[in-house]
Order: sequence, then C-alpha cells, then structure tokens
Amino acid sequence: MTTNSRKKSCDRCDYQNPPGALVCRRCYALLANQLETGSRPNTTFNLNRLNKTGLLGPSASNGAPVVESALPKETDRNTIVFKIMASAEEIRQPLTGGALLIGRQDRRKHIMPDIDLEPYDAYRYGVSRTHAQIYRQGNAVYLQDMGSANKTYLNEEQLEARSPAEVKNGDTIRLGAMVVHIRFE
Ligand SMILES: [Zn+2]
Repeated sequence: MTTNSRKKSCDRCDYQNPPGALVCRRCYALLANQLETGSRPNTTFNLNRLNKTGLLGPSASNGAPVVESALPKETDRNTIVFKIMASAEEIRQPLTGGALLIGRQDRRKHIMPDIDLEPYDAYRYGVSRTHAQIYRQGNAVYLQDMGSANKTYLNEEQLEARSPAEVKNGDTIRLGAMVVHIRFE
C-alpha cells in the first residue's frame, strides 16, 4: 500500500485528482472537508496547489490603472453573471450602481453581501464574509480582494489585497476554493 502518490478521487464524479488537490478539476466540487475561514489569517491553506498555470505565489499586481477616459457604453456590461462552477448555478447583479460586495451573509454581524455565496456552501469553500468586491468604472470592470483569508484569484493568478485588477468577459475567478465563471450581459 503506497501513500506517497495517492490521487484524490472525487466523491461526485469519480475523477482522479492529483494529490493535494482541493477542488475537483473536472466538476469543481470541494475535495477537502472544509477550508479555514476563521479569524486567524496565518492558517490559510496552500491554495496555490490548485494552480494549473504554474504561476505560484503572489504575483506582482499589474497596478491595473484606473482609466476614467473611456466613455461608458451603456449597452455593455450592465449586468454581471456569476456562474458557480460546482453547481452551475448563476447569480445576476446589475453593475450600474456602486461596488458589489462578494462574500457570505452573516446576520449577526450585519454582513449582507450583494453577491451572497452562502447558499452555495461558501463557508466550506473558504469564502470570507467580506471576500472581494467588483465594480464598473467607465467601461471596465474591476475585481478587488478585501483582505480575505483564502485569497482571490483571477484566472488563477492571486490578487493582492485591495489592489484592483480588470476582469474581462469569460474570465474565471476563484474565491478561496470556489471557482466562478464571469460573463457580462
Ligand atoms: Zn468531480
């Protein structure tokens, strides 16, 4: 019985994932029991293992320049659609107002995110209550990590906290271990 190269079989689809994988690479179901979302920020899991591109560690932010010159095209990007890959469910929100908070609801602490991932098992996936925010500026849309415990990734590149990065139609973001596909309508 060897234990050094144990693959992780997905309970949902039986896909054989590489050792150390936290999320199934085929169906995005969580393979770990639960991710830490407590108040101790130094107990984060090594989510970089999910990285398929080989871009490890915090990447230098590109500084995502905030361009105000672009004229808003009102026919574009009025709605953001979040597709939760593990369940294929979609959340729609207008992008025409202020920043949208992404996280998980906590009534006791009066945290009510605009995009509430609580119904999608967000706690187990390591989503923080106040995880990230997304907003439109001109005709560009930006994603910003809010200092989450398990980090925010844009196309598998880790974002630095409070450093906005531009999100394009069709991008994939990851909140902790929750993989979400983004599109605009
Ligand atoms: Zn699976």
